Amino acid sequence: MPKNPKPGEWRAADLSHQYVASYKPFNFVDGEGVRCSLYVSGCMFACPGCYNLAAQNFRYGKPYTQELEDRIMKDLAQPYVQGLTLLGGEPFLNTQVCLKICRRIRKEFGHTKDIWSWTGYKWDELMQETEDKLELLRLLDILVDGRFLQAQMDLTLQFRGSANQRIIDVPASLKSGKVVIWSRLVR
Ligand code: SF4
Repeated sequence: MPKNPKPGEWRAADLSHQYVASYKPFNFVDGEGVRCSLYVSGCMFACPGCYNLAAQNFRYGKPYTQELEDRIMKDLAQPYVQGLTLLGGEPFLNTQVCLKICRRIRKEFGHTKDIWSWTGYKWDELMQETEDKLELLRLLDILVDGRFLQAQMDLTLQFRGSANQRIIDVPASLKSGKVVIWSRLVR
């Protein structure tokens, strides 16, 4: 089974080396619309059957650079791009990188570009987490939450690998104080 951290047990400040495994601009698979996807390196959940085993290592890939960030912003500026997607690895254990790019997106694009993130944390776990994780959450539009559970694997699901994972409308959930599922969920 995947690991279960206690609240605040895993901290980006202790774990992240601010590495990225991959950057994939202009794809159609990591959320709604045409998207630019940033895969950060390092994850502690150790889900059996993880789709990106190599990226569990916090030193996998290359360091995140200003040059890469500038390229992402340039790619996002294309009118046909809907937004940025954060994947991993674990974005919430790489908050130094993810906060930097997300703050800049909100500053330069406001809400004209959306931000999706995947995480191994469940929503309720994130509610008890450190301030950097909560700040990142507040910058998102959509969160796909929860560990990948092989026993619940279902390849027909939209944008997620196992039935326990949810596509969450973050602003609506923060406003109402309970999980609100994305309104355009089909399956
Ligand atoms: S949370 Fe995601 S990246 Fe981390 S081990 Fe699980 S499937 Fe892999």
